[in-house]
Amino acid sequence: MFPDVLLQIDGSWTAGTTGKRLPILNPATGETLATVACAGPVELEQAAAAAVRGFATWRRVSAFDRYKLMRKAAQILRDRAEDVARTMTREQGKPLAEARTETLAAADIIDWFAEEGRRAYGWVIPARADNVQQITVKEPVGPVAAFTPWNFPINQAVRKVSAALAAGCSVVLKGPEETPASCAALVQAYLDAGLPPGVINLVFGVPAEISSYLIAHPAIRKITFTGSTVVGKQLAALAGQHMKRVTMELGGHAPAIVFEDADPVQAARLLATAKFRNAGQVCVSPTRFLVHRSQYDRFLEAFLAQTRTVVVGDGLTEGVTMGPLANTRRVDAMEALVADAVTKGARVETGGKRIGNTGNFFAPTVLTAVPADARILHEEPFGPVAPIMTFDDYDGVVAEANRLPFGLAAYVYTRSAKTATAIARDLESGMVAINHHGLALPETPFGGVKDSGYGTEGGAEAIEAYLNTKFITQALV
Ligand code: NAD
Repeated sequence: MFPDVLLQIDGSWTAGTTGKRLPILNPATGETLATVACAGPVELEQAAAAAVRGFATWRRVSAFDRYKLMRKAAQILRDRAEDVARTMTREQGKPLAEARTETLAAADIIDWFAEEGRRAYGWVIPARADNVQQITVKEPVGPVAAFTPWNFPINQAVRKVSAALAAGCSVVLKGPEETPASCAALVQAYLDAGLPPGVINLVFGVPAEISSYLIAHPAIRKITFTGSTVVGKQLAALAGQHMKRVTMELGGHAPAIVFEDADPVQAARLLATAKFRNAGQVCVSPTRFLVHRSQYDRFLEAFLAQTRTVVVGDGLTEGVTMGPLANTRRVDAMEALVADAVTKGARVETGGKRIGNTGNFFAPTVLTAVPADARILHEEPFGPVAPIMTFDDYDGVVAEANRLPFGLAAYVYTRSAKTATAIARDLESGMVAINHHGLALPETPFGGVKDSGYGTEGGAEAIEAYLNTKFITQALV
């Protein structure tokens, strides 16, 4: 049984008044698993009003008690990880092991933010007069509207929700309509841990209608969005009109640079594994492979060998390491990007096409001889296609890495401390991983620069996005 997914408003699950439901599809089979309820203006108003009441309650709960409740929610999620992971795989497609890892990682993220809430320190600032005391205190910004996508149905939501809750904010979360059940399972874990009604509300529906309603709503004080750069810019503009604080975690097009002094075989293995995780539908996925000409042949051979070990199939099947793409739009996008590159002269080394007619399966694909004007070298592929290019010198590869407006993640392989230090400085990127893939831990920053957005969703700074600094100066009379 796969549950129908309802809206969570003010502590109750409800179908709402619109009568509108969207199908939840299994991307491996095309079958309809269940439906998700859609909110209209009535439900959005109810959710915003509930978030106002929820905020009034939650902000008064001590940081210590918030911490205890959040730790409980994390443990509930861990206890349910097996069931939640199966739900996620069925609606999103990723292999069960990846879904399990995502669910358990979400519990760790809740723990991290629970702890951080207890460390939302202010300052005592030395005053100029003996009888003056100057302090800052951190206060929650207020009700938050959070918008999260389908590629990591829990993890995209848990970062926003948990940072907000730890800070003392309430949330109206617009979850992903295509993968709503696992996102709802996260919310349920919080409710079962004892979160008061209205502190977390979950809605689904027409994304543009929901965002324009909530961003403009006077009760909402903070906007946080993960998704494409195009949509992020629209939402940031709208938020600007209403003077709302914003966090934007947007697209990327991560360069993966392999220098002449790296081990090309080891780099190829790690990069190919990272490339095909979640079928490439990852904002920090390595997407432009730039290999020093002297290492190109060995790198390509090892990358192709690793690619051929990828087992594509239904994520619930034992041994499968890459599931279907999450929706048919991604299959169409992969076909279009590959066709465009091939028309312009690229070579398909492996893959290049969809697999079968049932489900959204696309073969792990490697392209070489990709010309500079191919769309895939400009647009975020967000799928299992790896274009591999050569470079000749340091300045050239840095220029290529920084060429695009994106700046989310970058990967570098080198044995030279000098090169590693220089490139970490020279890359225009929010995150740089050198000789391994160490991104997205709860305790490390996660965010981009340039068109990849602003703000961080991990590490000690992440909770700041949900806090205002209030300055209090007092003359002791
Ligand atoms: P899309 O741009 O239509 O949607 C991306 C996400 O934004 C979805 O979750 C969607 O529900 C939401 N969205 C769209 N319009 C919105 C609006 N007006 N208000 C609020 N939310 C809105 O495209 P898509 O087909 O779902 O995904 C394709 C592209 O989106 C990918 O190529 C990738 O670049 C990007 N994407 C990025 C991430 C990420 O982790 N940064 C996740 C998913 C998708």
